[in-house]
Amino acid sequence: MTHYGSCLCSAVEYEVTGPLAPVILCHCSLCRKATGSAFAAISPIAAADFHITKGEEFLRSYSMEGGVQRIFCSQCGSPIISKRDSTPNIVRLRIGSLNTPLDVPISAHAFVGSKAAWYDINDEIPQYEERP
Ligand SMILES: [Zn+2]
Ligand SMILES: [Zn+2]
Repeated sequence: MTHYGSCLCSAVEYEVTGPLAPVILCHCSLCRKATGSAFAAISPIAAADFHITKGEEFLRSYSMEGGVQRIFCSQCGSPIISKRDSTPNIVRLRIGSLNTPLDVPISAHAFVGSKAAWYDINDEIPQYEERP
């Protein structure tokens, strides 16, 4: 099934032509800053399956220490994907940008060791101090 998504302002649209991976909720301090929320919801997908179909010129990349790039819409600020130099064949899709239904489960809470003190996790999904 092909998935479709877009940023908040719809300047950027994309499609995912392969399967989504189970979703990781990342509670690390960097994802909290990047989303302005308690965690980022991320599906690691094959880079070859991810295609920008509209508005590539609006994308900007914020390069971080450790070879991580966070790619977002420069008009509205929506995070779309992140990439790591160490895993060039994978992009980490921010699933809040999807317009099509999610057909994979949430598999993990990651970086629970540094989660926001103001957010309590109240579900049975496995929790990991750092990476699953
Ligand atoms: Zn946008
Ligand atoms: Zn994170």
